[in-house]
Amino acid sequence: MQFQEHQLEQQAPPLVESSGNLEFGAAGTNVERNVGGASRTGPHRWHSFLKGILRKSCLLDLLSCATAQDRVEILLYHGFCLGSRPDPRFPKLMPIDLFEEHVRICARYLPPLSLDQLLKPGSRGVVITFDDGYANNFDLAFPVLRKYRMPATVFLTTGFVDRSTPLWGNWLEFLVMAAQARDSVFEWRDSKVNLPLTSSLRRTEVVAGLMRALRQLPIADVHEFLRALENHLKLRFNWKNVPNLLQPLTWDQVRTMRQSGLVSFGCHTVSHPVLSRCTREAQTLEIFESKRRIEEELGENCTTFAYPYGKHSDYTEATKEIVRSAGFDFVLSAESGSTKPSTCNPYELPRWGADLELNELSFLVSGGPALSGYLKKHGWRWERTLPSHLTEH
Ligand SMILES: [Zn+2]
Repeated sequence: MQFQEHQLEQQAPPLVESSGNLEFGAAGTNVERNVGGASRTGPHRWHSFLKGILRKSCLLDLLSCATAQDRVEILLYHGFCLGSRPDPRFPKLMPIDLFEEHVRICARYLPPLSLDQLLKPGSRGVVITFDDGYANNFDLAFPVLRKYRMPATVFLTTGFVDRSTPLWGNWLEFLVMAAQARDSVFEWRDSKVNLPLTSSLRRTEVVAGLMRALRQLPIADVHEFLRALENHLKLRFNWKNVPNLLQPLTWDQVRTMRQSGLVSFGCHTVSHPVLSRCTREAQTLEIFESKRRIEEELGENCTTFAYPYGKHSDYTEATKEIVRSAGFDFVLSAESGSTKPSTCNPYELPRWGADLELNELSFLVSGGPALSGYLKKHGWRWERTLPSHLTEH
């Protein structure tokens, strides 16, 4: 059984016979971010080869010294599995050995920084963040953080940690993967959804199509859809059936990490909605209630927030007003980019995803994008050799 929170790459076949306001199976544009970037081909392989040579030489160390001022790189991770290879049952989880290698590379080129040190004058360093609140952050990542004395911030989806609201992507995947093997048509509102659940491939396609469609809806509608789907499939989401690797943190684990002085905690809403699809009232409730729960459990102010999904289209001007009114010091997106502490907007800080190859990561944290920006400014064209997501924003 596979649980995946975020969107999948596969383009699902049409699932709909007739639809109201839902577009099931619409062609998606999101690309699944492959942990570790293992399947890159073509020009990427060439870029990686060049960066591999740079990594093995001392040139990146020199570059790091030359470009390190007023530069912070914030990295975004989610969950982890044991070992050095992806677990085929949980392809979205990053092998913990690969994470350790990331931490080692970061520590080589930039000083570790906690989020609250970000805007100090002359800040330079690397900030590690984790989203959602998986227990594997405690079981697998926390020992690595302690080993390298690397600070980190975990953004908690509080309904998930409270075990009151599953992450809706996991909930959907549980239902589709655990359902009886048969074809059926599920009617919801004005829509008819084909559910061809006769093979694991077809189930994966169904999850991908529904994930894309449900992302367009307010979270209350998503939950209503999932409850109706439970009735249709004669199944109930049960926390006991969630694999250990996908269980949420407990509040005791959260407190233990906090007491280490190494890990801080920020908000990531209650139920992980796409905030741009929610009413202002629903957004306010998601953000303020998540903050309140964390403060209640930790007995301290919660001053940081990360937008669920985190792309520009996933939040609005109203969202930004609400997070400002909630009094957060820092708000993080999932758009790629480096941060210049002297000029950045603390309410929309970019982060690099965990799908970087090791050579790319070395190039990034040693100042590669900054060098590329400098060369571009002076009419050089070396930036063309970089993947677009690594050129400076
Ligand atoms: Zn998230």
